[in-house]
Amino acid sequence: MSYNAVPFEQIRVERPEYSDVAAKFARFDAAWDAASSAEACRQVIHDWDELERQLSTWINLVGLRFNQDTSNVEYKQAREYCDELKPRLTDLAVRLKRRLISTPFRKELEATFGLQAFALWEADVLAFDPKIEADLVKESKLEAEFTDLLASAKLQYQGHTYNFAGLAKFHVDCDRQVRHASNAVKWQWFADNAEQLDRIYDEQVRLRTDMAKKLGYDDFVGLGYKRMKRVDYDQADVERFRAAVREDVVPLTVELRRMQAEALGIDRVMFWDEGIFDSQGNPKPNGDHDWMIERATEMFDEMGGGLGEFFRLMDECNLMDLKNRDSKAGGGFCTDFPSFGLPFIFANFNGTKGDVEVFTHEIGHAFQSYCSREQPLADYLFPTYESCEIHSMGLEFLTWPQMEKFFGEDAERFRQIHLIQSLLFLPYGVAVDHFQHLVYANPTATPLQRHEMWREMEATYLPTRDCGDLPHLPQGGQWQFQRHIYLSPFYYIDYTLALTCALQFWVRSRANMSEAMNAYVALCKRGGAAPFRQLAESAGLASPFTEGSLRGVVGQAREFLGITLG
Ligand SMILES: [Zn+2]
Repeated sequence: MSYNAVPFEQIRVERPEYSDVAAKFARFDAAWDAASSAEACRQVIHDWDELERQLSTWINLVGLRFNQDTSNVEYKQAREYCDELKPRLTDLAVRLKRRLISTPFRKELEATFGLQAFALWEADVLAFDPKIEADLVKESKLEAEFTDLLASAKLQYQGHTYNFAGLAKFHVDCDRQVRHASNAVKWQWFADNAEQLDRIYDEQVRLRTDMAKKLGYDDFVGLGYKRMKRVDYDQADVERFRAAVREDVVPLTVELRRMQAEALGIDRVMFWDEGIFDSQGNPKPNGDHDWMIERATEMFDEMGGGLGEFFRLMDECNLMDLKNRDSKAGGGFCTDFPSFGLPFIFANFNGTKGDVEVFTHEIGHAFQSYCSREQPLADYLFPTYESCEIHSMGLEFLTWPQMEKFFGEDAERFRQIHLIQSLLFLPYGVAVDHFQHLVYANPTATPLQRHEMWREMEATYLPTRDCGDLPHLPQGGQWQFQRHIYLSPFYYIDYTLALTCALQFWVRSRANMSEAMNAYVALCKRGGAAPFRQLAESAGLASPFTEGSLRGVVGQAREFLGITLG
């Protein structure tokens, strides 16, 4: 396979009709039945794979368009059509996968494609049955409802109207009053919409639990893990990792918050102070969107490893949408168009240091996707998420020496804060994960009880948190802004697992940048050809599930920040 780069405007895929797709699958089935050699099977897999690349190009394009303008009726209809069709496409694919994994030629095919494909297909087979098709459509609708609701927020502040991304810059303002007042506006919106937010999640939890039961699981946790395609670790591993965070990181964060209060000249860090680290205010990039693109071009050119050429391609082909606009969905993400061999990144710049972070993060994903475009199977274009996030968070750390370009003399402050925030993130990340385990293990809990669960998580993992007089938060409502909880259940521990690996890249890059870069690029090229632990190991990274691996990097970070054990 080889691809020619085309501009985004030329990335078009015709809307698939179910009957056409089903006819193609019928031909694959017939060819599979007739296949009397491993070679013949390989051909079927190859043809099917090409179709999968086209379908995901279409699905990703529809999803992207909707996120780019959630108020566009045409995009919305396309998304609705896609949401209805997707479970039916999954049904076709799962039926074929069921045949693939039980072939007498499995050994030969595993030798060609690797064991991972078969492990992934087995997970997919266990996560789907036609009897949950209607439930999946309903699930997508609830997810769209949540995205719509948040994107429709019109937040009045100082005589202007903002969306969440636009308002966020005030949460890190130097003026404490501004931080408090803008947070009050944000959380008042959540208080005003509490009923809707609770109802959507309540329906999701019940629906997901129903699906799990229909598929023979006790609750949604097991199904959630299968949907995340976790093939080489389980709930017990994750629980041990959360325990390591409680032990090795939570006490350090108490110390970090104390130092933060001191630097800010306040006696305790309140919720509205959490995102700002000294009285000068967080470093800001020294220019706007176009200026950032220029600096990024220079940065990636200097870093080598193919990053420079790649970034120019992203820019020239308009494969980035980074400016904040009305009706644009929040957040940042990377998606891809596999039949064109091209990725796309989406973000909402708001003039804060977060712009640089989101940018290097999403470019990390995009670079990996581009590096892996020649992988033999669509299933290998991205690895599972905990591995994906190594590419993104790893690049955030590998770009450290380049930060003068964006922040000038504030670069060192930026690096310090980036590291502090990474450490502070670990307990939050596992809190979000632990919370979801509680929620899905107790699916009949009321919304009020769920808010109680979140408060319990805050007490365990974020013991210094103080929400003061802000609306909605003291009742345990902060999790409702965490879109993954609604949109991608159990996708959150992945960030903390990946961060434990990315911090190892940080340590290595400080000892030897070119060694770290080579290992990073090699990891990106492997895409998803292996499960998490193997990918990590092949890049010389200790798995976060290995006793002491978290403690090791946290110790290095503590040393860098000059914090001695109290
Ligand atoms: Zn990411």
